[in-house]
Amino acid sequence: MSKGKIIVISAPSGCGKSTIINSILDKESFDLSFSVSATNRAPRQGEEDGVHYHFLSTEKFRDAVAAGEFIEWEEVYPGRYYGTLRSEVDRIINSGHNVILDIDVRGALNVKKIYGNTARTIFIMPPSIGELRHRLEGRGTDSPEVIDTRIDRAEYEISLAPDFDIQIVNDVLDTAVSETTTAIKDFLQ
Ligand code: 5GP
Repeated sequence: MSKGKIIVISAPSGCGKSTIINSILDKESFDLSFSVSATNRAPRQGEEDGVHYHFLSTEKFRDAVAAGEFIEWEEVYPGRYYGTLRSEVDRIINSGHNVILDIDVRGALNVKKIYGNTARTIFIMPPSIGELRHRLEGRGTDSPEVIDTRIDRAEYEISLAPDFDIQIVNDVLDTAVSETTTAIKDFLQ
C-alpha cells in the first residue's frame, strides 16, 4: 500500500456521501486520515473544534487566506467559507499516511489541478435529479425553497462531474459503497 496519496470525494447535498465514506472507513482498514478543514460557519450540535472542523471567525479565516495557509478554499454558500489547510495535509502525508478530503466540487477540482496523479477525485451522484428531489423531500428537513436551491446547485455540480477521475451513481447504497471501495483500493495499491 502506498503512502502520501490524496482521495477527494465530492457530491451534491443529499447524495449519501457521508454515509458512503463512513461505511467504508468503518469496514476497511485503509490507511486514510481525514484532513480537518477550516470554516467560518458556526459549529452544529455535537461538532468539536479541531475534530469536525477548525472553526474560525471570518476575520481569522481571511487572515489564513492572506497568509497562504490554504491549499484551496471556497465560498461554498454565501458568506460561508471552507478551506483545506496546507498544515493538515502536510502533517498527514509527512507522517506516512494517505489523506481523504470531503470537499465541495470546485475545491476537489482545484486539488486535482495542484496534485495531479497524487490525487484521485471521486464524484458521487444521484441516479437522476428527479430522484434527488424525491430524497430531499423525503428527508422532510428542508423547505421547498431550500430544496429548489439545493437542486439548482446539484445541477451545476453534476455538470462538473465529467472532470472527476471517477463517477459513482448512488442508486443502490451497497453497490455505491462497493464501487467506491474498489476505486480507493485500486488507487492506494
Ligand atoms: P457542511 O457545512 O455541511 O459541513 O459542509 C458544506 C460543504 O462544504 C460540503 O459540500 C463539504 O464537502 C464542503 N467542504 C468542507 N470542507 C471543505 C474544504 O476544505 N474546502 C472546500 N472547497 N469545501 C469544503
